[in-house]
Amino acid sequence: MDDKLNPFKIAQVQFDAAAEMLGLDSALREFLRWPMREYKFTIPLKMDDGSTEVFHAYRVQYNDARGPNKGGLRWHPDETLDTVRALAAWMTWKCAVVDIPLGGGKGGITCDPKKLSETEKERLARGWMRVMARQLGEHRDVPAPDVYTTPQIMAWMMDEYETIVGRSHPAVITGKPLALGGSQGRGDATARGGVYTVREACKLLDVNAKGTFAVQGFGNAGQFAALLHPEILGGGTLVAVSDTSGAIHNPNGIDPKAIVEHKLKKGAVASFPGAKKISNAELLELEVDVLYPSALENVITDENAGRIKARIVCELANGPTTPEADTLLHGNGVHVIPDFLANAGGVTVSYFEQVQGTYNYYWSLEEVQRQLDARMTKAYHDVHTMAKEKDVHMRLAAYLVAVNRVAEAVRLRGWV
Ligand code: NAD
Repeated sequence: MDDKLNPFKIAQVQFDAAAEMLGLDSALREFLRWPMREYKFTIPLKMDDGSTEVFHAYRVQYNDARGPNKGGLRWHPDETLDTVRALAAWMTWKCAVVDIPLGGGKGGITCDPKKLSETEKERLARGWMRVMARQLGEHRDVPAPDVYTTPQIMAWMMDEYETIVGRSHPAVITGKPLALGGSQGRGDATARGGVYTVREACKLLDVNAKGTFAVQGFGNAGQFAALLHPEILGGGTLVAVSDTSGAIHNPNGIDPKAIVEHKLKKGAVASFPGAKKISNAELLELEVDVLYPSALENVITDENAGRIKARIVCELANGPTTPEADTLLHGNGVHVIPDFLANAGGVTVSYFEQVQGTYNYYWSLEEVQRQLDARMTKAYHDVHTMAKEKDVHMRLAAYLVAVNRVAEAVRLRGWV
């Protein structure tokens, strides 16, 4: 992979800029540039047709100075050790920026889940857990869902873990179904948290909260952004959405509920009636008040950043913007709410789930949403204040807040 687009190299470049500004000494800098531990292993899987396929799997425990590692599991054909490392680094900064007592981790399996049957997925999930179980636990490392992994996959993994350790352990994994100790409010938490930060940004920047918005990527994060943006902001017109099938645009508005229903029924947004087909690249360049990148990495680069016309870019996806693009967007006055702040709602409610699981108790949906709002609002303002104080863009400000917190924990432990 081109180094410029390698997510882990990007994560290191972003970290280096913050480390430089914070004046971290060289040992601390080197320590925080790399994961503390990483596991790379293979899972031989008996397929339904009797053959065996071998899958490559990962878990990276980036840093646990502030608490147990926490982070999702991605099942994707393009998964590599470097994508997992980058995502684990961002988890570390994410937990720190919203100030929850957790470190950062991430895992994955290189596979195409669309080609696996339900029984093959179950055996793959259990196979991953059999290798990793001894390195996990609510006081060590707690996985969760990410791209193409689901509450059902978390349920199989929890069951395998409990079988191995021989006792109940609901807090070993989050994003579980409600009936198995999942938290109220986890399903829409990532998008909800992001929309809370957009609400705060609109107030500070004098952006029309009831203006237009577009959503790139239409999975868990994207669909809930479409539904929740008008609810939380008290208005707003969804004008475009995209997924791997293509993008659609209607300046008069696309009904969020109707497009979500269409996507769930047909599996694609491109065939939605009453909207014009545009390219995925054109969607990113529409003149909207808010753009939600909600798919994968590296979609806003130095090539297209100059043409982004959104006032606010709320990065629900991890790593959608390259460092060169960040500088261009900042120069053009585009307000980027960086990924590890914008999408921290997911891990925040995962943390609430871990807490509820540990003391075997349930919070109401209202309680979860109230606490999520308070944490996201504070985190947004912490970062915005830092950006103003240091006169830097929001991503660097978020790094300054987060790296400072992790560095302090590392120093207090006497590690470096
Ligand atoms: P998902 O698998 O539910 O959805 C991904 C969507 O992106 C799909 O609709 C897919 O069709 C679309 N997509 C893929 N490539 C695309 C492209 N080139 N153009 C347009 N659309 C494209 O995944 P998700 O859980 O919604 O996660 C999306 C992003 O949000 C990821 O970067 C993930 O790491 C991040 N994220 C998710 C959560 C969460 O709780 N779900 C939490 C934090 C971060």
